[in-house]
Amino acid sequence: MKATPNGYLLNMAISDSEIAQVRAATDIVALISEYVALKKSGQRWTGLCPFHGEKTPSFSVNAEEGRYYCFGCRVSGDQITFVREMQHLDFVDAVRVLADRAGIELHEDANAGPARKERQEALAAMSRAVEWYHDRLLNSPDARAAREYLKSRGINGDVARQFQLGWAPDEWDALCSALNLTPKMLEATGLGFVNKRERRQDALRARIIFPIFDPSGKAVAVGGRILASASETVRPDGRVEPKYKNSPETPIYSKRRTLYALNWAKDDIIKSGEIIVCEGYTDVIAFFSAGMPRAVATGGTALGEEHFQTMRNFAKRIVLAYDADQAGQSAAASVYQWEQKHEVDVAVAQFPGRTDPAELAQSDPGALRDAITNAVPFLQFRLNRVLAAANLSTPEGRARAAQPAMHVLAEHPSELVRDQYVMQVADSLRLDASLLRTQLSETLRRPAVREVPNSPHEYDHAPRPATSAPTPRPGLEALRLKLHAPQLVQDRFIARYFVNGVQREIFVGLETGDSISNIVDALERQGDDESARLLSQMAVEEMARDYTEQDVTAVVSQLLRSAVAEELKNVERDLRSEKLAPDVTMVTVRDVKERLALLETDDGKAAERDLREWLLERASSEAL
Ligand SMILES: [Zn+2]
Repeated sequence: MKATPNGYLLNMAISDSEIAQVRAATDIVALISEYVALKKSGQRWTGLCPFHGEKTPSFSVNAEEGRYYCFGCRVSGDQITFVREMQHLDFVDAVRVLADRAGIELHEDANAGPARKERQEALAAMSRAVEWYHDRLLNSPDARAAREYLKSRGINGDVARQFQLGWAPDEWDALCSALNLTPKMLEATGLGFVNKRERRQDALRARIIFPIFDPSGKAVAVGGRILASASETVRPDGRVEPKYKNSPETPIYSKRRTLYALNWAKDDIIKSGEIIVCEGYTDVIAFFSAGMPRAVATGGTALGEEHFQTMRNFAKRIVLAYDADQAGQSAAASVYQWEQKHEVDVAVAQFPGRTDPAELAQSDPGALRDAITNAVPFLQFRLNRVLAAANLSTPEGRARAAQPAMHVLAEHPSELVRDQYVMQVADSLRLDASLLRTQLSETLRRPAVREVPNSPHEYDHAPRPATSAPTPRPGLEALRLKLHAPQLVQDRFIARYFVNGVQREIFVGLETGDSISNIVDALERQGDDESARLLSQMAVEEMARDYTEQDVTAVVSQLLRSAVAEELKNVERDLRSEKLAPDVTMVTVRDVKERLALLETDDGKAAERDLREWLLERASSEAL
């Protein structure tokens, strides 16, 4: 069972009827229109998909069913899923957001699922810890040195309050005792641990605390910067204290996903279409102080795939505000891959001399802004570094620089991009472009260079292993009729008609008369993602035309043909294993085949009824 991704375990805290109420009260078109422009097209609404970059709309919304589906990247869902994805919330929080929006008061079950209760306790403990640290920084005499250090870095009381900075005193268990945190809570939050002498101990001491919040503004972790000068960071046992120490991975904190300050930066990122990624917390604060409140940082981990997944929903331009050497070490192949997959542009800001953003914000905020405005594409940045290291004053020096330059170009997956840089390199090295092209294609032929798929869709549309029989058309047509013209279908179909397992599951779901969202939920809960996706897709499909009674009859005939053919195979099998008497069976089989021939004739209705009876009979005899 896929529990958490669907919020199944989590949603037990809110009753199903209240979830249904929230869905019913939320106009999905109005909701999605807050993010994307939707246009009415037939029965559906369409627009550009907010989950993948595209120029022609493949995102479709069914207002009556409250469902969306993207024919490009195949995301699908309802009002709750949409809010979860767009705001990066868990199921329960998304329901809360929508309930607030619709003015519905939730009566969350006090006996909530244990995982959810624990999570809530951990969040509450983290939030109390952040307040406690913050109060120590602002008011405690032992935090004087910390306050002075921050002031020297341009961080005054107002800024400290804005970012809720804190101070972890130089004591073993000040936080644990003050908040009376249980060993279980220490583990769930990473705020402390039980030491070898069975005593609770704080994880961070004598450090300035930078609380880390999730996008909705809940504290999920803390980062701590050591205050002591470099000579004092060597412990008595000779080990060196790291300058920064962050909360470990916990049930409430995922390093790979979380970006420091995104909760404050979100608005300006969306407004400007740009996101600045820094190395440290103080750099982020520096950008805010310099009037660019769109900076974030990773917490104790390198920028990775999941960070990109988060960022691409907010902005298309990502500027790395790293130290040049640090940026140079970023894995180029990964960066280009993420650029393509998430349709974002990665640029690198170059700072004058060896200054870092925090220093520059204080000494020359204008230069900091310029560095962001003039940030160059990642490939240009790599190329500049190669050329800067070369001796361009002699013909030999320029010739020697060609090879490393072509190596850098070869890493980029797009030939069109590569070729433009070839011409640039030809200019700076005063070499013939066609010579460079030859060298580049030789470099590309070498297996050391990793080929990166060209289209983001190659990831999404990779052929999946078949999990069930191929999907025959009549089954799909039948489901469409059932979905879009139920009054025509009435009870002409039965589950037994569907040979394909996925289609049968969907039919059974539709037979319950439940909402599409509830059926999709149920299918996902069973781990039947394929059926859930097919149903999501069909729910937003436009009816090709107005269906008639004849269409239904034609589909029923085709369904019956395939269902009966399947069943006759079973009959044969039973004959061989002597479960059936041959003489009786031969008569039945002939009878069944005659009925099949009568379908779509004037006697079709009677034939349909007989075949249906026979299939049901077979089913019940098998059940015995
Ligand atoms: Zn899409």
